[in-house]
Amino acid sequence: MDATLWVLGSAGWMPKAGQETSCFLLEAQGQLVMLDAGTGVANLGLVADVLRRHDRISILLSHYHLDHLVGLMYLKRFAADKRVDVYGPGQPVYPKTTEEYVGDMLQDALYSSGPSGFAREVHYHDYGGRDFSVGELPVAVRAQVHSSPSFELRVGDLVTYATDTSFDAASWEDCPSSRLLLHECWQLGAGDPRHTSIEALAAGLPRSRFGRVLLIHHNPSWDAGERSEAGRTAARHGMELARDGMEISL
Ligand SMILES: [Zn+2]
Ligand SMILES: [Zn+2]
Repeated sequence: MDATLWVLGSAGWMPKAGQETSCFLLEAQGQLVMLDAGTGVANLGLVADVLRRHDRISILLSHYHLDHLVGLMYLKRFAADKRVDVYGPGQPVYPKTTEEYVGDMLQDALYSSGPSGFAREVHYHDYGGRDFSVGELPVAVRAQVHSSPSFELRVGDLVTYATDTSFDAASWEDCPSSRLLLHECWQLGAGDPRHTSIEALAAGLPRSRFGRVLLIHHNPSWDAGERSEAGRTAARHGMELARDGMEISL
């Protein structure tokens, strides 16, 4: 099964020159799947030919923090003629549904098109922390540790997407393999317990289970020296820092 993934947003929290916030696009089995909808949605202009091939986009949300959600309001520029399905954690792991949270963010006073106005039709779904599927693509869901409930999403054997999570090596010992792992890398060493460090990944990630490992959700506070250090440590352990605009064949 051939598949392609595009990195549209490799930063966490806020954009930085050349780096938008969390957003990845996967084309596989005739489906177009977006992983999170941060400001990287603005980079859909880089893949206009891909968009033309699809009438439908399925958006899978790891959680609702704004750096993963705010790009929904940019979709009107790219998806006005498409059906969009938004899958979020929702109930029962959150008190409200995905439709309600997006409705809060895109309420009339804040966004004139409203929560159903950024595409031809919009459908909301709660995966509720359980496995689900998008067409023929199975999506395995695993709870993570973060400041709000966040979920690792594994699409078939293609991509494991793990962002906004602390890293616990023990929970990765028997993890299923994937062609690509997208894992957050927020800090160089121990620090914020809601996030992952390059040091922890280098020490505890079972690298051989993944064809390729791209580190994502970079901290926009990094200076050039910290970014280079993260890149060097990643390279020593067979990993690499993601860059917006990367196209990965799987
Ligand atoms: Zn985030
Ligand atoms: Zn978060």
